[in-house]
Amino acid sequence: MPANKVIGTDILTGTGNRHLVNLISDKSKDDQTPSLNMQIHQKVLEPFMALKAAAAIEGFDLCICSAYRSFDRQRVIWNDKLAGLRPVLDQFSNPIDLSQLDDWQKIQAVLRWSALPGASRHHWGTDFDIYDAGAMIADYQIQLVPEECKGTGVFAPMHGWLNSMLSSSKKDFYGFYRPYAVDRGGVAPEPWHLSYRPIADGYAEQLSASIIIQQLLHDGKLMYLDTVIAHIDEIMERFVKL
Ligand SMILES: [Zn+2]
Repeated sequence: MPANKVIGTDILTGTGNRHLVNLISDKSKDDQTPSLNMQIHQKVLEPFMALKAAAAIEGFDLCICSAYRSFDRQRVIWNDKLAGLRPVLDQFSNPIDLSQLDDWQKIQAVLRWSALPGASRHHWGTDFDIYDAGAMIADYQIQLVPEECKGTGVFAPMHGWLNSMLSSSKKDFYGFYRPYAVDRGGVAPEPWHLSYRPIADGYAEQLSASIIIQQLLHDGKLMYLDTVIAHIDEIMERFVKL
């Protein structure tokens, strides 16, 4: 691979922000929607705006509720879940009692919904979670659970439209696809999670177990770090490499 294609490990592991731009919301300043104050990859802004415009023609207000996430932020989520400060959900979106599980089982339960810090696709700025702001009633709390995206779910119409766009086009839709579309026994299906393939594929290819472990050891604050390192190959296989 040519040297100029090598991606910095800071970008791969969520410890740098030089690849990011602010996501400018088209809402008014007073509007406290989650789309404000978020960052995405500089090369993803334009394709995202094209996707958003295509959705608007169909009557959907396609917005992002989570875009770039730093390593530190992901570590807080990870540690909170393993410390019982945030719920860990099962496949039916019900809370799991972690006290009944051993360390490795706890880690696998967390990994089903939350990435290992250093290995989250949200670190790259190429991936984000979407919702339809136009479909929500006032005070609606976005949950990002499968039930919202199918059947009579609040975001089902937008995801139905996206399904048809993704299946009818030979290529990805404006470069976007769903990396967690199907359940392979690792990460749960996340229809709301979109990825910009032209950039993300190269990042995925270069992210390795050794890069992740190097960052985790450098940080030193991850709960169950020893167990993670002992199982890193399986974690890569089941939860990182798609
Ligand atoms: Zn996501």
